[in-house]
Amino acid sequence: MLEAMDRVLSHGQLLLGPEVEQLESRLAARCGVRHAVGVGSGSAALYYALRAADIGPGDEVITSAISFIATANAIVLAGAKPVFVDVDDDLNIDARAATAAVTPRTRAVVPVHYTGRVCDMGRLLDTAAGHDLLVIEDASQAFGATHEGRPVGSLGDAGAISLNPMKLLAACGEAGVVVTDRQPIRGRVEALRYNGLVNREDCLWPSTNGRIDTLQAAILLGRLERIDRVIERRREIALRYDAALAECVDVPGLRSGDVAYSYTIQTDRRDELRDWLEQAGIEVKVYHPKPMPDHAAYRLRGDWSIDNARRCVRRLLCLPVHEKLRDDEVDYVIDRVLAFFGGAR
Ligand SMILES: *Cc1c(COP(=O)(O)O)cnc(C)c1O
Repeated sequence: MLEAMDRVLSHGQLLLGPEVEQLESRLAARCGVRHAVGVGSGSAALYYALRAADIGPGDEVITSAISFIATANAIVLAGAKPVFVDVDDDLNIDARAATAAVTPRTRAVVPVHYTGRVCDMGRLLDTAAGHDLLVIEDASQAFGATHEGRPVGSLGDAGAISLNPMKLLAACGEAGVVVTDRQPIRGRVEALRYNGLVNREDCLWPSTNGRIDTLQAAILLGRLERIDRVIERRREIALRYDAALAECVDVPGLRSGDVAYSYTIQTDRRDELRDWLEQAGIEVKVYHPKPMPDHAAYRLRGDWSIDNARRCVRRLLCLPVHEKLRDDEVDYVIDRVLAFFGGAR
C-alpha cells in the first residue's frame, strides 16, 4: 500500500490519475461488464446510478425493508419514492412481495444482496422484464458473489458497490463504483460524479462532486489482486459456523454463489447471547437494528407491511468472520455459542 501511495504522490495526479482508469477496467472485467466508473462512496454510486438511469420525480422504486439507510436515501435524493418490501428469513427482499408491489408508477427495483447472500434474482429479473422495470443492484455487501455464475452487479442495468474499509474489497477510506453494460449510463455517471459537467464545460444534470480518489484507486488495485483469498477464507469460516451452529441458532447457510460479508445468525435469545459473547471477549454486532422505513426521516413516508423485517432485526446477531481470524479463534467462538445454549437449542 505504501508503494502504491508513493507512486501516486510521485506522479502527482491526485484526481482521476491513471490508477483510476486501471481500477475501472479491472473492476469491469471482474464484474463481467463493459464499464465501471469509480466514485467517492457506495452511497454516491447508488445515487448516481439511479440518476443516470433517469429515475426521478413521479417514479416508484421498489427496495428491501432492510439495508443500510444509504439505499433508501439514494432513491429519495434522486426524487423518486421508495416502496419498501418485506424480507424473507434470509434477510433479502421477498421477491413475491416485490412483484405484488409493482404499480403503473414503478420504474425500478433495487435489490440489496444483504450480508453477502444473493437475492432471488431469477424471480426479480422475471418481474422486471415483465413490467419493463430497471434493475439497479446494491451489491455493496456482495462483491465477488455470483448468481448462476454471473457476478452480482452485472445482473441488471447497473450495480452500485461500496468499497469502504468495512467492505470485502476495502479501500483505506471512502470509495465506491458503478458497474454497467450500458454506455449511456456510464457516460452519465461520469458526468454526475463531477457536478454533472460534460467535457468540464457544460452542466447537463445538477449534481455533486463524488469522484474516486487516485490514492484509493491505487490501494484498491493491490487489494483486488488478493480479493479471492479474502473471499475464500471468509467462506471457509462461514461454512464452519454453518456446520457447527445449525443446531442452536438459525444460520445463514451459505450457498455456492454467496460471499460472507457478515455472518448473521438469528435467535430469539439475541440480547442474552450478545452479552454472553461480549463477556467472553468476542466482538459481535447488530448492524442496522432498524428497518429503513422505521428511521425517523421515513416514518411519515408511508405505512409498510414489513412484519418479518421487524421480527428479524430483533433476532439477528453478527459473529466475527473477517479473513484474519485463525482457526482456533473460530473454534473459540463456536465453543462459546454452544456453551450458551448448553450444547443444543
Ligand atoms: C456500505 C453500504 C452502502 C453505502 O456505502 P458507503 O460506501 O458507506 O457510502 C450502501 N448499501 C449497502 C447495502 C451497504 O452495505
